[in-house]
Amino acid sequence: MKETRKLKSSKGRYTGLVHVHSRYSHDGKLSTEELKRMAVADGHSFILISDHCEDLDLRRCGELIGECEKQSDAGFVMVAGIEFHNQGIAVFGLERAAPGQEDPTRALEESLTGRTFNVLVHPRGRKSEIVDAMMRRMHAVEIWNVKADGGRFPSARRIRLWRGWREKYGLKAIFGTDFHGMKERTGVHVEVELDVLSREGLMEALRAGEYRMYNREKEWDPENMSPKEMWAVKGYGLFRGVAIGAYRRAKVLMPAGLRRRGKKMVDGEGP
Ligand SMILES: [Zn+2]
Ligand SMILES: [Zn+2]
Repeated sequence: MKETRKLKSSKGRYTGLVHVHSRYSHDGKLSTEELKRMAVADGHSFILISDHCEDLDLRRCGELIGECEKQSDAGFVMVAGIEFHNQGIAVFGLERAAPGQEDPTRALEESLTGRTFNVLVHPRGRKSEIVDAMMRRMHAVEIWNVKADGGRFPSARRIRLWRGWREKYGLKAIFGTDFHGMKERTGVHVEVELDVLSREGLMEALRAGEYRMYNREKEWDPENMSPKEMWAVKGYGLFRGVAIGAYRRAKVLMPAGLRRRGKKMVDGEGP
């Protein structure tokens, strides 16, 4: 994917996926090795893993960190992370194992003591706002969650929520996949510019908000969306709300082929 774009500076452009579940999550379908293979095939250079805290006891969390190191080399970076469902927070860049399963509250505190990239994932409403002190430790809000929002447009509702929090907490927007399996294979990705690809450089760029967001070749800049883009996003949000309800009611009667086509129409194609 990135070979076709021209380099603007001497820095290299590296693309990757944010908010990815591996088999360390009970509902994750791919191993870290398979995830890397998929990402590389799609032209990417990094993956930010966020496995569910309830599936990561201290031992498995340590294993996940080791696995991510094992999958990382000069051409690829896999970053270990953990998702706290109750708080709707994903912490990327774990350096030490945290007791996610045994004591999620402590695990969250401990995770945040490192140089991590902290994202409010799939916010649903005002209730998604966590305590003020915690909000101040976040870096970004996931305004596109491919699993929940489909592969066509970011979520109008989450953009609205993010804009409120941007004013108050200075949070950036980010695109996440919430990848669990091939259904969420997507063109939605994030790009950073680095002198050389490294975990440290990647984490620094993310923490500083120095990244761009794309769906396939199309760049989205949530800070400067055109009226046309905003209308498309809002219109799609309305369409999706109606279409999903109708689709859920009709799908029991549909043959499998039609079911797949219907889903593709609502959610969009892969990468
Ligand atoms: Zn899950
Ligand atoms: Zn998730």
